[in-house]
Amino acid sequence: MASSETKQPVVCVFCGASGGTSPAHLEAARALAKVLHENNIKLVYGGGTVGLMGEVARTLVSLAGPDSVHGIIPQALTKLEQNHDPEDPTSHKIDSSIFGRTTLVKDMHTRKQAMATEVINGGPGGGFVALSGGYGTLDELMEITTWNQLGIHSMPVVVYNVEGYWDGLLQWVKQAVGAGFISEKSEGILSEAKSAGEVVEKLKTYKNAEGRFNLSWDQN
Ligand code: AMP
Repeated sequence: MASSETKQPVVCVFCGASGGTSPAHLEAARALAKVLHENNIKLVYGGGTVGLMGEVARTLVSLAGPDSVHGIIPQALTKLEQNHDPEDPTSHKIDSSIFGRTTLVKDMHTRKQAMATEVINGGPGGGFVALSGGYGTLDELMEITTWNQLGIHSMPVVVYNVEGYWDGLLQWVKQAVGAGFISEKSEGILSEAKSAGEVVEKLKTYKNAEGRFNLSWDQN
């Protein structure tokens, strides 16, 4: 088995199934793919072809080839998140030469666990990154943050804050720490980056705070 020194880092990107109204969000998705390529980092993502999801995957595959991207998508979502022609039932079959390898899973929780496992099993410098997105992105971002708080993983979670999109969330974290609902040692689980380069920097320099739970789903 390869040692952690030789393992390639894996980044899981959570992001919108939409592209957003400002072109800055799609630009950020492309910029992130570019720095992942420059730093030899693999991508695991939600497996869609639409919105920011499609953009980050398509861009990284165009730079680093199909082996650099793994999409994991619940079967039921393929009709919604993989471009398809309603007249042609085969049209939502994803083209791996454009979007990388795809794995179909049975449900959302299986997807989240499978994506997290790839990051945890990857080399140092990997972690979780949120680009802009809606309810789905926020759900995934908060779940993976709480898994760090519980000690299920010790990987960084970076919010790529494009045009202040996540200011409200970052402000809420500060408020929750001040109000005693998030501990100071858990405050740093989530970090902010304002550029794609800063995302990778934050992933590389993250130090997990000591003393959190060390929970595993297999424990009784
Ligand atoms: P959105 O940010 O709403 O555009 O969704 C982005 C991604 O989050 C999509 O791939 C959704 O499938 C995914 N997602 C993950 N968990 C959920 C959830 N509980 N509800 C809706 N979407 C979710």
